[in-house]
Amino acid sequence: MFSAKGVLIEKQLFYLFAKLKSMRANAGIHLIALAAVLVAAGATFSYGQAIDAEIRLDAQSNSVEVSGRFLDAGEVRNIAFEHDFAGVSGLAERISRMRTLGANGQEVASKVFAPGEYAAAETISAFSYSVRLDAPDRTGQAHVSWLKNGRGVLFLGDILPLVLGKASSSATVRIINAKGISVGGCSSLTEGKYACADRASAVFIISPDLRTMKIPDPALNLLIEGAWNFDDDAAAKEAAELFETYRSVFGGAPQGPFDIVIMKFADETPPGRFEADTRGRTIVILSSDAPFKSQSLQRLSLQLRHELFHLWLPNGVALAGRYDWFYEGAALYMASRVGLMTNRIRFDDFVSQLSTAIAFDRTSPKGVSLAMAGDTRWQGNATTIYARGMLAAFILDLELLKRSKAKHSLEHVLRKLFNDHDRRKGSKAEAVPAILDAFAAFDDTGRLAKELLERSEPLNVAAALENSGFELSDSGRGLKVKEKPNSREKAILNKLGYNNWRKLSR
Ligand SMILES: [Zn+2]
Repeated sequence: MFSAKGVLIEKQLFYLFAKLKSMRANAGIHLIALAAVLVAAGATFSYGQAIDAEIRLDAQSNSVEVSGRFLDAGEVRNIAFEHDFAGVSGLAERISRMRTLGANGQEVASKVFAPGEYAAAETISAFSYSVRLDAPDRTGQAHVSWLKNGRGVLFLGDILPLVLGKASSSATVRIINAKGISVGGCSSLTEGKYACADRASAVFIISPDLRTMKIPDPALNLLIEGAWNFDDDAAAKEAAELFETYRSVFGGAPQGPFDIVIMKFADETPPGRFEADTRGRTIVILSSDAPFKSQSLQRLSLQLRHELFHLWLPNGVALAGRYDWFYEGAALYMASRVGLMTNRIRFDDFVSQLSTAIAFDRTSPKGVSLAMAGDTRWQGNATTIYARGMLAAFILDLELLKRSKAKHSLEHVLRKLFNDHDRRKGSKAEAVPAILDAFAAFDDTGRLAKELLERSEPLNVAAALENSGFELSDSGRGLKVKEKPNSREKAILNKLGYNNWRKLSR
């Protein structure tokens, strides 16, 4: 028991620190240097278009040669690339040998203003360059493109020129020299050629050792690389069941089909490490295996519970602006709640995960609110986003349950958010007011949500626990269930799955 618990806590510590994400690139901020120069020079400033490109892999040098053209004629003079993504910097420095060509194929001179920012002397219609794709050696292999010995991940978002302004984000690409390829977010045209509606969310998995499990309903493709201690069938069943649980939590599913990729890191990696990224409709999980079959499946389940949430939030909705403070905390919290609903974890586990979040929140940097941490997530505030974000979700869930006599919970708010801002409706509302409004619609919790978002010190858990059935443990450092909860408190605990755990022995 003790060691089992030890493993769980260790896993949870790692989980809270892990850079799990699905942030969309904010291209605008990096282009200030180029824009300033161009405006000063009085040049016409025109943006990139839909692209047709060939991406040729070189397994020897772990790089790709890209040659392409803009599909719709326009005054294109500038090409810019992703600088950093999800805390991985130096992406633009990987690009070299840029050539820009005019409409007749003639060479057009171009200047480099900053790494990855090119401005041509006249209109260009085609380009070629190479990109070195050595795997990031610390973290980031689930977030940026890499190749190693003929296998790897290609995110078109950091390989092709950025979409600037309101230009089309589509691309058709031909991938050459890939031994084993699978694609997320694009449709296959002919052998090796793909149409991608949004190149920022297109992912290509390159591996000679990839197999596909198709789950027809929900439309999930599970792509598994190499040997694992879990069974493929069990993994597929797990993914489908968790997907269905989220479908009922959110009251519907986003537009599929979805791909879930489970692959190994670039190099042999000791057990216990994983990274994941949910890009568009594709979940990429890079992981080392766990030593035993049951652990291996449990770990996959944990990874899926978090990442599947992101297919709904943020990827399934159209909301403008950054709101990691909400969807990362809610993903962590709902991953635990869904773990309870499906009996993947015990109520004890849920309580200990929240205790961990409380402990982390107490050590988070002073003077930084959730709202502020969202902007500096990759500059050391990831813990605030995750730990305080999770606690905020818990506090709001408790408050909804308390005020509604256990009739409403965080699920109602999530359902409203998804229903009102489903990407297919394309409302493109501002995220923060939309989230606060969704809370305000239930038991007037909008003000509390705003308070939690703006509070620049650790959250006041003690106050939130009053009449909830929980209390701080004797040491005051963690959470526990009250010895004798009253009937209203019992109703709240049961709503959260307290009885599931008591009835079931796993
Ligand atoms: Zn996440």
